[in-house]
Amino acid sequence: MLKKFLLLIANIISLFFLSFSYSQDIPTIRIGLEKVSRTLSFSNVGKMATDYLDMEVEGKGFVKIEVRDSTAFIETVNGLLQVTLPLRIYPNGYFINYNSNHYRGYLEISPNSWLINVLNIEEYLFSVVPSEMPAYYPLEALKAQAVASRTYALVNRGRHGEFDLCSTVHCQVYKGIRAENDKSTRAVLETMGEVAVYNNQLIKAFFHSSSGGYTEDCKYVWGGDIPYLKGVKDVDELLNDSWVRVIAVNELFEKLSSLGINVNRNFSLELEKTVSGRVYRIWLRDSDKAYILMGTTFRSLFNLPSTLFDMILEGDGRILLKGRGNGHGVGLSQKGAKFLAEKGYNYKEILKYYYQGVDIAKWY
Ligand SMILES: [Zn+2]
Repeated sequence: MLKKFLLLIANIISLFFLSFSYSQDIPTIRIGLEKVSRTLSFSNVGKMATDYLDMEVEGKGFVKIEVRDSTAFIETVNGLLQVTLPLRIYPNGYFINYNSNHYRGYLEISPNSWLINVLNIEEYLFSVVPSEMPAYYPLEALKAQAVASRTYALVNRGRHGEFDLCSTVHCQVYKGIRAENDKSTRAVLETMGEVAVYNNQLIKAFFHSSSGGYTEDCKYVWGGDIPYLKGVKDVDELLNDSWVRVIAVNELFEKLSSLGINVNRNFSLELEKTVSGRVYRIWLRDSDKAYILMGTTFRSLFNLPSTLFDMILEGDGRILLKGRGNGHGVGLSQKGAKFLAEKGYNYKEILKYYYQGVDIAKWY
C-alpha cells in the first residue's frame, strides 16, 4: 500500500516535472482520435472554449457532449449548453480523462465532428514510441525510434486536413497516456528536438518491424528514387525471422478474379525479385494471356507479413509460402535496431545505417 502510494507520488512528481521542463519552442501537433458519432463523456475537465465563449467547469469536471450538425450539446454540472463547433476542452491540471484513458494537452471537437488531441510533439511521442516499438527493446533502439517518429510526424503535418496525423497505423499509433512507459519516455527526452535530415531537409522516416535480413529500396514499394531509402544488408540474426503460410490454389483463383485476373487452371507463375530478395512482381501466364501482379498487392491480398517470400506449388492444390521479416522493409528496421543496440551501436549510428547519408540535427 505504502509502495503504491509512493509510486503515485512519484508519478505526480514526474508529470509535474515533464509539464514544466520544456522549452517554449516545441511544435504542437493535432492528432485525430475518432469521428464523433455518439455522446462523449469526459472528466477532469477544467475549462471549455469556443471561438466566442469561455466556460469554467466545476466539481470533478464531468462533461457529456452530444454532437449534431456542427453543434455541440453540452451537459455539465452547471447545466445544459448549446454551442457552435469547434469546441476546445481543457484539463483541470495536466490531463483529461476520456474513454478509460488520459490525454495530455487539450481536446477539440472540430466542425466536421472529429475528436482531436492537441498537444506538443514530445508529449505525443511519449505514447507513440512504446506503441510502435516494444518498450523492452534497448534504450538506443528506442532513441532511434523516437528520432524516426519525431521526423515522420513533422514531415506529415497537415496530412489529414483539419488534423495532422491520425492515431492508427495509417500514420503512427498513438494511445494517449495509457501506453506510456518510463524507458521509452526517457528515450524521447534524451533525443528531444532531434530529427533525421538529408541536405538539411527532414527525411521521409519510414520504419518497419523486421527486414528479414535485407531492407528494401523505396522505389519498389511506393516508387521514387530516394537516396537515403535504398536497401541495406541487415543483421544476420534476422535471417532466422521466418514465417510460413499455406494458401489453397482455389483461394488464389478467387482473389485473382476479384482483381479482374482470370487465368486458366493450367497456368504458370513466376516471381520477379528485387536485390533484397522481395517479390517485386508476379507474372501469371496461361496459354493465351499474361498478367502482372505487384508483390505488394499480393501481400495485402493474403495479409502476408512481408513480400520477402518464396512460393512452392504443392501437388495437392495448395501453395506453400515461406518468408522472412515483417512489414514493408523500407527504412529503419526495428528488430535490426534492437540487435545493433545490443551489439553496442548508439542511436545515431543505427539511424545512419538504415537511412544512409543522413545527419541527425536539432530541429528545436
Ligand atoms: Zn493517418
